[in-house]
Amino acid sequence: MEKYFIYCRKSSEEEERQILSIEAQLQELRDFARQNDLMIVREFTESRTAKEPGRPIFNQMLLEIEKGNASGILAWNPDRLARNSVDGGRVIYLVDTGKITSLKFPTFWFEATPQGKFMLSVAFGQAKYYTDNLRENILRGIRQKLRRGELPSKAPLGYFNEPRLRTIEPNKKTFPLVKKTLEFFASGEFSLTKIQAKMFSLGLVGKDGNKMALSSIQKILTKPFYYGVISYDGELYQGSHKPMISKETFDKIQVALKDHSKPRKKRTERELKFLGFAKCGSCGYAITAERKFKPSGREYVYYRCTHKSKTQNCTERKFVREEVLAQQIEELCQTVSLPDEWKEKYMLQIKEWENEENHSSAVFAQNLKEKIEYIKTRLDRLSDAYLDGALELEEFKEKKNKLIEQKAEFEEKLRDFERKGNHWLELLKNWIYDANQAENFVKTKNFSAMRNFLKTAGSNRILLGGKLNMNFQKQYNLLLNLPPQARREAPSEAEEIAKNEIWWT
Ligand SMILES: [Zn+2]
Repeated sequence: MEKYFIYCRKSSEEEERQILSIEAQLQELRDFARQNDLMIVREFTESRTAKEPGRPIFNQMLLEIEKGNASGILAWNPDRLARNSVDGGRVIYLVDTGKITSLKFPTFWFEATPQGKFMLSVAFGQAKYYTDNLRENILRGIRQKLRRGELPSKAPLGYFNEPRLRTIEPNKKTFPLVKKTLEFFASGEFSLTKIQAKMFSLGLVGKDGNKMALSSIQKILTKPFYYGVISYDGELYQGSHKPMISKETFDKIQVALKDHSKPRKKRTERELKFLGFAKCGSCGYAITAERKFKPSGREYVYYRCTHKSKTQNCTERKFVREEVLAQQIEELCQTVSLPDEWKEKYMLQIKEWENEENHSSAVFAQNLKEKIEYIKTRLDRLSDAYLDGALELEEFKEKKNKLIEQKAEFEEKLRDFERKGNHWLELLKNWIYDANQAENFVKTKNFSAMRNFLKTAGSNRILLGGKLNMNFQKQYNLLLNLPPQARREAPSEAEEIAKNEIWWT
């Protein structure tokens, strides 16, 4: 079993005022160790700044690690360990040389990959200048992970992070227990507090060994990860891990959750989702939302024109119920969404195109270069002919200008070509991901994501005669113009259009 040191630090500096006290850090870390089955062999505490290298207790701890008395450190956050490049570098060096095999922080997820070390060094406070750029890289890394179906964070209850393969695997002990819990709740016969008691009796306990907090249980019940999908930043990605439950069970859980919460109270507090989403089709003014109560006490939200235009005479009188607008938004998304099978087929096609493109690009560029060379030789010959007296000045000038024009044209083409490269394929790929996401949003009834998707997929969203309409970007029209049965069947028709039309430019 891996041995860990706990390290706690807090200095008296002004900027550290917000940091947990050493006592509090210790308490949290001991809890964390217990929860994660970490074997702690010693605790180190220090009241010093980490901005300058040379903290005695920190040094002593690293010495102990070099001797092999522990190979892991548990600290509240990386900035507790180091805030200067010397100490940060020492920690990373020990990771590189295998003296440190694990670094754990309740507030920071670390993996010993090049990327993980990169993030760690940023957290250590070095390379400040590159932070922005880095954040971009890290986000890109996270997106790549997501596309490979990997969760870029700590495994949820029932799973664990496999350190060598860097995958997420079922935890033999807790996986069946969490599965049972989820299935119990899906039956609709359990309230949150009942399931809390059930989990406790199964041995699924909170930090302190008591019942798990209701808020944590709620999070577990709504995590799409359990049915095989990763939700990150409001988007869904197909996970590569072993699902615990079916999508059907997940949906049942969501229904059960809704039934057990108090809908009346929730409704009045609910936000107005589609405020500012569309404009009035008659006068062009923004749509507003209004709450109304039926005599039964039931609340409805309506969207309508503000009728505030002084110059335009607005003729729109329709009020649209929020549910109706939501339905229309869902339908619009559906019409331009790309089903999973299509995405797969498209990606295969793109791979092929990419190969072809790489090949034909080389041929195309070579061809242009040869033409330019040929014109150059002809220009030389023409000058020779003129100098030899074989051509009159007028004739020479005319021929020369023609050639120079041609040469400039080819050179321009070549520059243009080199600049653009495979840009269109990249655009195509991005579009496929976006359109496929729309499909997921519809499937999961994620209305705020659908709203945001439509905002970026086109423009001119108007509400006229109670009907929502918008102009999609060109590339979406491809999907829009398909007959509904084609959507359900093979994507061959769309492929034909894609091949024959240059709709991605
Ligand atoms: Zn209007």
